Amino acid sequence: KKTIAGTYKTDSERSFVMIKPDGVSRQLVGKIVSRFEERGYKLVAIKTVTPSEDLAKEHYSDLAARPFYPGLVKYITSGTPVVAMVWEGKDVIKQGRRIVGATNPLDADPGSVRGQYAVSVGRNLIHASDSFEAATKEIGLWFKQAELSDYEPVAWPWVMADN
Ligand code: UDP
Ligand code: MG
Repeated sequence: KKTIAGTYKTDSERSFVMIKPDGVSRQLVGKIVSRFEERGYKLVAIKTVTPSEDLAKEHYSDLAARPFYPGLVKYITSGTPVVAMVWEGKDVIKQGRRIVGATNPLDADPGSVRGQYAVSVGRNLIHASDSFEAATKEIGLWFKQAELSDYEPVAWPWVMADN
């Protein structure tokens, strides 16, 4: 698309990002949402969900054989809601992982969400899709097609132009 700000591609990727129960309970939702918003990403969907055991298990099905899996499912199904989101923009999958930081907060860059707010790998505040395949699976698992909004933020041309 050609605009006064420059030219950009209108089809950009999407990532599933989830603020886990500790992030909601610690009232960090606004601060976390702001990081994605201020970077220039587009909010496509957002809702609170109190995940069922089935949903948590399906979301983390790749990790079913890992020793921490039962504890992880218990954490996500604590009864405190999570905030499920879809963010869209240039390289949002890779950049979302950088905003979130390394899985173990000990290794997370201090500028990342986990590096700034978390100390324990088992309470690391946030999830972000790690690949296009994972994002497709996770967005489909947590959201219906009708919940994904189609609009263009006014800042979009300036954020997205790459010429
Ligand atoms: N996890 C854990 N102990 C571990 C590794 C992972 O409790 O030793 C939890 C942690 O909450 C992590 C989630 O399992 O975020 C999923 O693990 P994954 O390796 O996919 O990390 P992520 O993609 O969230 O960085
Ligand atoms: Mg993962």
